[in-house]
Amino acid sequence: MPASILVVEDEPAIRDLLAVNLRHGGYKPLQAADASSARRQIDEELPDLILLDWMLPDQSGTEFARRLRSEDRTRGLPIIMLTARSEEGDRLNGFDAGVDDYICKPFSPRELLARIKALLRRAAPDTSDEPIDVDGLRLEPQTFRASGDGQPLKLGPTEFKLLYYLMRNPDRVLSRAKVLDGVWGDHVFIEERTVDVHIRRLRLALQPSGHDRLIETVRGGGYRLLPKLPPRPAERS
Ligand code: CA
Repeated sequence: MPASILVVEDEPAIRDLLAVNLRHGGYKPLQAADASSARRQIDEELPDLILLDWMLPDQSGTEFARRLRSEDRTRGLPIIMLTARSEEGDRLNGFDAGVDDYICKPFSPRELLARIKALLRRAAPDTSDEPIDVDGLRLEPQTFRASGDGQPLKLGPTEFKLLYYLMRNPDRVLSRAKVLDGVWGDHVFIEERTVDVHIRRLRLALQPSGHDRLIETVRGGGYRLLPKLPPRPAERS
């Protein structure tokens, strides 16, 4: 699952260039031309990192960064500020706003990718997580690989996170609110039925090896990941 990086930059040529470089670097670029569009995207889904232009049409990058730092949900979001050479003197301002790092335009793609990699590594120390196994279903958080009885399974990024959460909390009834909190964070903009949508997709993805049967719907309660596959209906006597 590639890390998603939101590029907030009003100049289309630079934005495109950044997106191309990010994609080459193995990241998933998202794009916003101003602060309000960036805000909308962040509300929808928290990216793993933001590349934030210093001068935006509707708000300065530092102001926007300061606001992100003041809110619980975005407080830990890694931010790299993009500045023009002439703005270098203003760097201190940015560190006040809680920006993690800087890149000067025009930027070297190699330097950009190196800084992103370093910052992501600092921001996500728990990527050293060990693989988890439940009755033949295996997840490798480090490489985002999933397999059922040794056969690779294709999971979307959200389904992967969802399954990882369920597998870390086996044999427990997890309410939709709890799942939302554990998978999406304190996400006020997502409705509880979103959980059902992703559970449905996850079950489909697990069907090839039959591990969809590990996920139990608990009426009026939520979901539970069984510690062991239940017998198939045909196997019951
Ligand atoms: Ca600009």
